[in-house]
Amino acid sequence: MEWMEQELAALADKALERQLRDSAPIAGRPGFIIRDGQELLDLSSNDYLGLAQHPAIIEAMRTALAADGAGSGASRLVTGNRPPYRKLEQALASWQGTDAALVAANGYMANTGVISALVGRGDAVFSDRLNHASIVDGITLSRADHARYRHNDLEHLRHLLDKHRGARRKLIVTDTIFSMDGDQALLPELVALKEQYGAMLMVDEAHSGGIYGTRGEGLCHALGIQNDIDVHMGTFSKAFGVYGAYVSGSRTLIRWLINKARPFIYSTALPPAVVAGISQALQLVQTEHGRRQRLLAAGLKFRSALQDAGFQVGEGNSPIVPVIIGDNGLALAFSAALQASGIAAVAIRPPTVPEGTARIRFSLSAAHSDDALQDAARHIRSLGIEMGVLKQ
Ligand code: PMP
Repeated sequence: MEWMEQELAALADKALERQLRDSAPIAGRPGFIIRDGQELLDLSSNDYLGLAQHPAIIEAMRTALAADGAGSGASRLVTGNRPPYRKLEQALASWQGTDAALVAANGYMANTGVISALVGRGDAVFSDRLNHASIVDGITLSRADHARYRHNDLEHLRHLLDKHRGARRKLIVTDTIFSMDGDQALLPELVALKEQYGAMLMVDEAHSGGIYGTRGEGLCHALGIQNDIDVHMGTFSKAFGVYGAYVSGSRTLIRWLINKARPFIYSTALPPAVVAGISQALQLVQTEHGRRQRLLAAGLKFRSALQDAGFQVGEGNSPIVPVIIGDNGLALAFSAALQASGIAAVAIRPPTVPEGTARIRFSLSAAHSDDALQDAARHIRSLGIEMGVLKQ
């Protein structure tokens, strides 16, 4: 195993080794964590609506735990298909306005399972270069040709669609909000291309579900193009504050996935308490409009504060605000300095982001007060000057 030591040392030399660090939530204080004994404003989690500690969700999970036990015991096709699953999937389909929906263990398994069920050898998947790793892994697993187009570059996508005209099935897949940049996919344009080329279109609403749309349905609903999407997925681990994922679409799609999506077939059903937590979160997501509005307003304000300070924050207008640093070591040092001043925000480095674009990814939550965010923006600016990230 010496090769491992050597390769890990090489990663550490390039400031690219990843390490686990303990971060504990603080009961009754959503939006803050404790790390190394210090209380920090948490600008690193994806608990966008601040629901992870919501009392109604916790109570629903507690009740289900007492009534139904800890684990589901088997996959859903065996004996793990408890009644709450069916109710949740009906509620999800009605929320999404689709014929059917399917719960998955998490977003990673939804993406790998769905993509590998939809395409195989002789098919082609057209995927934005900045799509999430679970999409990339799903494509690899499927054995279909992987046609990666430059980020949001429709001409490049068109070129690749032309090149793969002969593919048996074609699938265009995209994040709606890109996880490390916080910008949006060009969804109406993708709909036009999928129609022109006879492709399927799959969207990943991991970072937009719960946040956009009048009932938090996601960005496709907000844009009014939800009926043009063939395969819709999202997670319950971010804005919903719980865990798990969903796929929604036609009845035929869901029947197909029940028969062909291997992570669904060969893995144990989510514990009943998690299903109960998701069901409760789904009700809150649909009704807590104030959280959504606060979050989006905070995102705009925080982003413009950092942009006005002179940081390079990219193009998005979502609650994900990246500050591009470039150098891996400097990004790590900036993250450590932020922690020293009471802010938790992670340095994101290659291979998660392209070489030379290491960054601090700030993600906001409706749990954060306006004052706390304004204070944070001021601290970040001072540190930027101190560390030479910002020119004076
Ligand atoms: N898709 C995207 C765009 C994501 O950012 C993530 C999570 N980081 C996932 C899928 C995976 O979701 P989960 O955490 O539920 O596995």
